[in-house]
Amino acid sequence: MSGDNIEPLTGIPQERLDWHWGALAHDPVVCAAEQPGQPGYPCIHNTLHHPHHEDVLGRTWPLHERRLFVAPPRLIAGDDRTITLDTTDHGPVVLTCPAWCIGHDSSPGARIDISHESVETVLTLPTPEGDVDHLTVLFEQRPFVAMSPGTGMFANVEINGMFHPAGPADLDAIADGLVANAAELRATARRLADMVAEEQPR
Ligand SMILES: [Zn+2]
Ligand SMILES: [Zn+2]
Repeated sequence: MSGDNIEPLTGIPQERLDWHWGALAHDPVVCAAEQPGQPGYPCIHNTLHHPHHEDVLGRTWPLHERRLFVAPPRLIAGDDRTITLDTTDHGPVVLTCPAWCIGHDSSPGARIDISHESVETVLTLPTPEGDVDHLTVLFEQRPFVAMSPGTGMFANVEINGMFHPAGPADLDAIADGLVANAAELRATARRLADMVAEEQPR
């Protein structure tokens, strides 16, 4: 046990704490994946797809790392792009992976949960305390999903821990929003500069 495990949970928003306690109580809606080397700090995301696990303190770790300790490696499609996944409800399922798929967990669970996923692109912002992630996007395709977002390829955009399936026009709209945000931030910077200048004693 390391000292890292007794960090006080002060100053953490109640909603995050609720997810944390839910994870510890094995609430089925919470991912609750164990964090390697940090017992008692499981993943607090819900069980919908997330690009990485995250604990109540905001520490993240890769989705499949926890499985390294107990289980089998990630399955990668062969030269013919096919892969066979052993599902819990439909037995072995043969798939053709898109060229951008980075492979699959060898314990994929139910067939409906199978998702081809690309590497993720993380957009960061520079702050005085260092770079901060603010948006993550990866390509996905879920060949057996019955409802939204459908079986076609899409981009999954994570903003603030929430996932937003997006098409090309949706990504363009988000990009337009970022440009508008940038203009607003620049205007705020000028306003602040003026206010600081006025504050100076004459
Ligand atoms: Zn998780
Ligand atoms: Zn795949």
